[in-house]
Amino acid sequence: MSELSANSPAYAMTFGKKDYEFLKEIGVGPTNSGCYVNGVWQGNGSIVSSVNPADNQPIAEVVEASIQDYEEGIQACAQATKIWMQIPAPKRGEIVRQIGDALRSKLHQLGRLVSLEMGKILPEGIGEVQEIIDMCDFSVGLSRQLNGSIIPSERPNHMMLETWNPLGIVGVITAFNFPCAVLGWNACIALVCGNSVVWKGAPTTPLITIAMTKIIAGVLEKNNLPGAIFTSFCGGADIGQAIAKDTRIPLVSFTGSTKAGLTVQQTVNQRFGKCLLEMSGNNAIIVMDDADIELAVRSVLFAAVGTAGQRCTTCRRLLLHESIYQKVLERLLEVYKQVKVGNPLEKGTLLGPLHTRTSRDNFIHGIQKIKSQGGKIITGGNIIDSLGNYVQPTIVEISANADVVKEELFAPVLYVMKFLSLKEAIEMNNSVPQGLSSSIFTRKPEIIFKWIGPMGSDCGIVNVNIPTNGAEIGGAFGGEKATGGGREAGSDSWKQYMRRSTCTINYGSELPLAQGINFG
Ligand code: NAD
Repeated sequence: MSELSANSPAYAMTFGKKDYEFLKEIGVGPTNSGCYVNGVWQGNGSIVSSVNPADNQPIAEVVEASIQDYEEGIQACAQATKIWMQIPAPKRGEIVRQIGDALRSKLHQLGRLVSLEMGKILPEGIGEVQEIIDMCDFSVGLSRQLNGSIIPSERPNHMMLETWNPLGIVGVITAFNFPCAVLGWNACIALVCGNSVVWKGAPTTPLITIAMTKIIAGVLEKNNLPGAIFTSFCGGADIGQAIAKDTRIPLVSFTGSTKAGLTVQQTVNQRFGKCLLEMSGNNAIIVMDDADIELAVRSVLFAAVGTAGQRCTTCRRLLLHESIYQKVLERLLEVYKQVKVGNPLEKGTLLGPLHTRTSRDNFIHGIQKIKSQGGKIITGGNIIDSLGNYVQPTIVEISANADVVKEELFAPVLYVMKFLSLKEAIEMNNSVPQGLSSSIFTRKPEIIFKWIGPMGSDCGIVNVNIPTNGAEIGGAFGGEKATGGGREAGSDSWKQYMRRSTCTINYGSELPLAQGINFG
């Protein structure tokens, strides 16, 4: 492990802050080793600072993984997988149940860390950790339901079975905006399915990676299981690429931008590995002329401003029927004025900072681009002068054909557009490259069923009278087109983490062939 000066003045000072004392309760110190390899904490890569988006001050230091750390970790993980996959699935479920309980006991501290390091408001930070706890509960039940099937054979004295076996190691690469929930969608299911997990979190949220890993490691240790069943690395694209290239990892689950995901997919495909992709969204809410306007306005506010517009499911496009266009816009402007911008850890704050200085710069460039393409800023459009990465919640009137509308600007910027008919609204909804989430506000059954049917929304998530964001874990989560086609969390997503075997068993003494073939 690299030596760090635990008493380096800058960190000692910052860490001395009363606000950060809670970090000790979840195993985070002023200086931290960022790899959990073969049950041991180490790190021989770069030393990085985790930075608070609310003031751009360092919170703590982390030593990232080197490629040698990676290699050591994967070798140990491959060995541990052989042990883990032979443990009966319900017993694996019991371990995941204990992980859920350990998370429950630290819910508030972990939620606070998510809020501190990522910048989302505290209730959302706590909600994110709750999501993993829910995933643990879901997976415990699932561990007794990894059912195969029996298929009627066309041949006498034959039986066909479909059985499910673990894949081996599942690689999980996650994004900054959901620094731990996305781990939960993947890891809880992958573990009960009998796979080991190798996790690389986002380079700007290493403390959450470390705190989460400590909880999981504690449970493995308590049960005398090899720590390498869960291997984790703090690091950047180099470690991500090592995972993508590694033939020892049959499935790579990637969550992040479409651009990086495409690189990962191409690398994994070249070695015939499997990929689960959860990439960028560009989500629309349609408000029909018969909609409950107050319900729609509250939903748009949460969907467009929540997490400072940094959710994959953030509403970026608001499509309003022309007859209610002005009314909805006016109500939105009223509620936007009431949004309290401030420190995400403070009670009452609705809009925290963007995650990094770069995110704030992207907002500035995005606004310039919007203006150059004819967008009219109705409210917001500026950064807020402060030490943190704060920007104004922004509404823009713009043509659906403008190029910027087809892109995902990861900030609280909402494009508003008019339509005349349901057909036109659905065409507008489907006209972007991404296909993650979508929602319509109406009370009419004929509209609802068209919207969820074959000629309706082309997205993976198709909602009615609720926002585009805030999905429940029970459903399969993911999107189509440039969002990547992956499905994670609930429903039958578990099947992607397992290898399907079709077994035909002949219990007779004849050899009848399928399709009635007579071979001599
Ligand atoms: P990002 O693409 O910059 O990074 C995501 C992860 O990929 C990080 O861990 C990063 O280190 C790693 N990475 C980057 N380049 C890589 C490469 N060449 N090879 C391997 N790994 C690489 O994304 P971000 O800025 O952290 O997150 C925001 C994006 O994630 C948005 O586009 C958002 O829509 C998307 N997202 C999607 C979902 C979903 O479920 N669809 C969920 C959360 C976030």
